[in-house]
Amino acid sequence: MNHTKTDIPSTINWNEIRSQFPVLNQEVNGKRLVYLDNGASSQMPQIVVDRINAYHSHEHANVHRGIHSLSQHATDAFESTREKVQKLINARYLEEVIYTTGTTDSINLVASSYGRTYFKEGDEILVTEMEHHANIVPWQIIGEQTGAKLKVIPMDENGELIMEKFYELLSAKTKFVSVIHVSNALGTINPVKEIIDAAHDRNIPVLVDGAQAVPHSTVDVQELDADFYAFSAHKMCGPTGFGILYGKKELLDAMPPYRGGGDMIDKVTFEKTTWNDLPHKFEAGTPPIAAGVGLGTAIDYLNSIGMDNIAGREAELITYATGKLSKIDGLRIVGTAHKKASVISFLLDGVHPTDAGTILDKEGIAVRTGHHCAQPVMDHFNIPGTLRASISFYNNEDDIDRLVEGIEYTKEFFE
Ligand code: PLP
Repeated sequence: MNHTKTDIPSTINWNEIRSQFPVLNQEVNGKRLVYLDNGASSQMPQIVVDRINAYHSHEHANVHRGIHSLSQHATDAFESTREKVQKLINARYLEEVIYTTGTTDSINLVASSYGRTYFKEGDEILVTEMEHHANIVPWQIIGEQTGAKLKVIPMDENGELIMEKFYELLSAKTKFVSVIHVSNALGTINPVKEIIDAAHDRNIPVLVDGAQAVPHSTVDVQELDADFYAFSAHKMCGPTGFGILYGKKELLDAMPPYRGGGDMIDKVTFEKTTWNDLPHKFEAGTPPIAAGVGLGTAIDYLNSIGMDNIAGREAELITYATGKLSKIDGLRIVGTAHKKASVISFLLDGVHPTDAGTILDKEGIAVRTGHHCAQPVMDHFNIPGTLRASISFYNNEDDIDRLVEGIEYTKEFFE
């Protein structure tokens, strides 16, 4: 993942791009909305909203089942997204792209299917101290069923992984490594390639939680050599309820289904059922079809801007925001890793993050407050939570200036 400044072509009109997001063009509490909660969910451009609307208005039918034209059309539209995802992340085979309902579902799939099959008492699963709960709890659930235990790669005060500890923790007991690519709480970009290479030296598979990476940069699963890679549509200008699990074909082939039902079967009898081929083996039941179609359009949209241009623009905005926020008296940035993307977490002296977030909301500024589904991160820093501004390419310098004004106002309010 490369999140350094790139030469952004001057032909890209970022104001024009911003105007394509209808949600941004409104007032909240009487003030122009400043949306800085993209880490939780990004907004959809009009073209994605229109595509989903058109699907519902003219194209809807169930997929993979009907001989009738509408069903075939819906299937084609839905399946075309798989090819777009394959190209986006450079998966070798189409069937390595599994549709899920999001990152959480993708990780649960691997934990349940792979973990229940291959883990046993005494095995260890390595995660990092900065995981989202979605990459902690599924492993704990499977650990309770299999006797496998979580081991945690610690981080330092900047929010960077202590890699020597990772190498110390890797042992004959390690059966799986599952790491966050970009921290949603701190913005840290983790050295996932190094982690994957080291784990592979010991034949240990690695899952990467890419929920905060895919929306912000070019991700190449073959270059990373990731065994599994998970992400969500709603953080990359697509709709909610849809996500992706990439998995290497040989691993997915060797895993049993996660859920049973329609679509995932080959032949069902009361005595025995056989499974459908990949990817359908892991896709039981009617999927969120409209959301899948919407993700396809979101990928086209992101590609039309260019992922490297998006990364470059966001790096500019993060640099601008970090510079401005660092100058505010009594503001402490939490997470000061050398390589960061799209997220700035911070605290204001003497003001609880929730109170500050409430005042900012009155000013029309949407930031997230709390533990960001990463309670161990908050425990590490011994804080109840942070305020988090998370940036997208459609934000601008004016949004950051408004945030700075809002913070100054919040400070005055509590003084
Ligand atoms: N992992 C990370 C790093 C996240 O930021 C999130 C969402 O914030 C998730 C996992 C969970 O994603 P979802 O709720 O879309 O399943």
